[in-house]
Amino acid sequence: MSDVKSGFSIDRQGLDLRFRAAVLAEREWLAPNYVRVRLTGSELAGFTSLGADDHMRLFFAASPTMSMEQLRASPSREYTPLAWGDDWLDVEFAVHGDEAVGARWAASAPIGSFVGVGGPRGSAVLTGQPGSWLLVGDETAIPAIRRFAAMIPAAAPARIVVEVGSEADQVDIDAPVPVEWLHRGDAPAGSSLIAFLDDLDEPDAVGPDPFVFIAAEQQIVKPGRALLGHWGVDVSKAVVKGYWKRGEAEYHAPH
Ligand SMILES: Cc1cc2nc3c(=O)[nH]c(=O)nc-3n(C[C@H](O)[C@H](O)[C@H](O)COP(=O)(O)OP(=O)(O)OC[C@H]3O[C@@H](n4cnc5c(N)ncnc54)[C@H](O)[C@@H]3O)c2cc1C
Repeated sequence: MSDVKSGFSIDRQGLDLRFRAAVLAEREWLAPNYVRVRLTGSELAGFTSLGADDHMRLFFAASPTMSMEQLRASPSREYTPLAWGDDWLDVEFAVHGDEAVGARWAASAPIGSFVGVGGPRGSAVLTGQPGSWLLVGDETAIPAIRRFAAMIPAAAPARIVVEVGSEADQVDIDAPVPVEWLHRGDAPAGSSLIAFLDDLDEPDAVGPDPFVFIAAEQQIVKPGRALLGHWGVDVSKAVVKGYWKRGEAEYHAPH
């Protein structure tokens, strides 16, 4: 998959699928609708995530269990591992409604609540050095954007564009360039990002040989792919993904 000329490639790597027990240890609200939680547990030893946009599956079981049958019967959703250590794992959640299983758990599950952690079982690892970077996403993509942003060298041309509801929803993101925040207000999720993508002209809107990451509500996929085509970016060297789908619980993004 390597492309010597371009300077970077995205290489797939598999990991053995493991399920680990953890508990909710801490909760920190970063914005009114955005919360970081710390999960802890000795089974997190050896947890790793090789790709910045990896996902794992969190199982919100009603009571502690590591029976595969009970775990699989519990509601589960996909999240990005943000940071981890020997016995801890940080995850950030967009809190978007009282009824949604994952968002509700993140917002209000009692400290000490059990959660099962499955995966990640495969990673897309960015290897080498892109000529420039375009990171675009909504709240659900902020953890992946944080991880990619940490990989951007100081002088590299880069744009990081994040859509949230309003200024109050902005969170600090460590990055070598200022984050461009778009506010959707009452418009449907993704509309500001779609307008932004539609307005991006030539590839030099970012820089040469870009790595492109675009993830948000599923409607972003079409304009995101159109941009890759327009710019002549090889799809195997970019990520364009629907992270959730309006009106659909437990959306399974094609991986
Ligand atoms: C690879 C990958 C990585 C992801 N990483 C993260 C992450 O780190 N943090 C994170 O918060 N999410 C992340 N997501 C998105 C997350 O999996 C979905 O948003 C999921 O639907 C949340 O589950 P829920 O139980 O809260 O809502 P669900 O029960 O799945 O959905 C209930 C309703 O809420 C709507 N809905 C779902 N998500 C949102 C939203 N964000 N805003 C508004 N409405 C919504 C649905 O359309 C549905 O109508 C990721 C998704 C993928 C594919």
